[in-house]
Amino acid sequence: MAEQKRDYYEVLGVDKNADDDALKKAYRQLAKKYHPDVNPGNKEAEAKFKEASEAYAVLSDPEKRRQYDQFGHAAFDGSGGAGGFGGFDFSGADFSDIFGDIFGDFFGGARSRGGSRSNSPMKGANLRTSVRITFEEAVFGVEKELDLNLKDECKTCHGTGAKPGTTKETCTKCKGQGQIVYTSQSFFGTVRNVQVCPDCKGSGKIVREKCPDCGGTGYVSSRKKIAVSIPAGIDNGQCVRIPGKGEPGTNGGERGDLLVEVIVASHPIFQRQDTNIYSTVPISFAVAALGGEVLIDTVDGRVAYEVKPGTQTDTRVRLKGKGVPSLRYRDVRGDHYVTLVVQTPDKLSKEAKDLLKQFDALTGDSLNAVKNAGTSSKDSDDFKKKKFWK
Ligand SMILES: [Zn+2]
Ligand SMILES: [Zn+2]
Repeated sequence: MAEQKRDYYEVLGVDKNADDDALKKAYRQLAKKYHPDVNPGNKEAEAKFKEASEAYAVLSDPEKRRQYDQFGHAAFDGSGGAGGFGGFDFSGADFSDIFGDIFGDFFGGARSRGGSRSNSPMKGANLRTSVRITFEEAVFGVEKELDLNLKDECKTCHGTGAKPGTTKETCTKCKGQGQIVYTSQSFFGTVRNVQVCPDCKGSGKIVREKCPDCGGTGYVSSRKKIAVSIPAGIDNGQCVRIPGKGEPGTNGGERGDLLVEVIVASHPIFQRQDTNIYSTVPISFAVAALGGEVLIDTVDGRVAYEVKPGTQTDTRVRLKGKGVPSLRYRDVRGDHYVTLVVQTPDKLSKEAKDLLKQFDALTGDSLNAVKNAGTSSKDSDDFKKKKFWK
């Protein structure tokens, strides 16, 4: 050939020791990028696609690869235009597998995964549902019962879908193969294509007389109660998997799984982050100043907490081990963080007001800002807001 041909390894961007998987991966990427169906009318893409296809056809064939490694392009120069292009003979190459993969990716999986395997046992699909639980149920775990419509094999026809007394017949379209193989001519020769049989959907069998109980589907649905054990510590949006409660398998395959998404209701006073719980507790001005006991709600019930004298508003305290159990480490529990918010009294009796005035007079400097509140500059206004009356 007059034109200088690029090295096949270079074309695919792999090294000389690349194994089959690496070759396939490299070729798939190039084919996806340059396939004429993706680049209609683009001559340059078409040329690249041809080049990559040729390189792959040679390197994926152990015998041809050996010849190529030994003689380079000269190994194939003698074939003299017997089909394919540029003197290269593609007749021995089988691209069906790789194009099946590619077109499966492009066109939403038109090809079943391994047509010839369609009669082997296949696990059923997973089912998804959700369950709502309370905040406390998420913390401590709960048993729930789900009421679900589940598919089962039809007892009348034992899943065949055929009317009792009749049998499934071999599909005439695919002759029981479940797939149809056809060849098409393309710019680089004859290509083998594999398609799932549209008549039998890959099973190779056709129901002529449908089972009256399942309408030929082979399955019946019924409502079932399923117990689900939700572990302590589960969080909103997490899933519990129940093996074997999904869709029935085919050809004797096991059932799929049931995936239960847990939706945790929000709580009026508790918030949660991971294994910690957060809440806000109001304390009186007097307790904040003098110290004293307050009762704090936790998921374990009400606990007494001793507030230190001189506690400022927004002080955060930790109740160790009153949080949420860890899903991963059963003995570990998070903490409960409580923000103490000092309540400023706003409805005061005359007596209380007098007492506060006396108190103010006694405490001197530190409360000057309060005294001056009515006539204060902006600075002391800010000071007031920040320090005292937040
Ligand atoms: Zn049936
Ligand atoms: Zn068929």
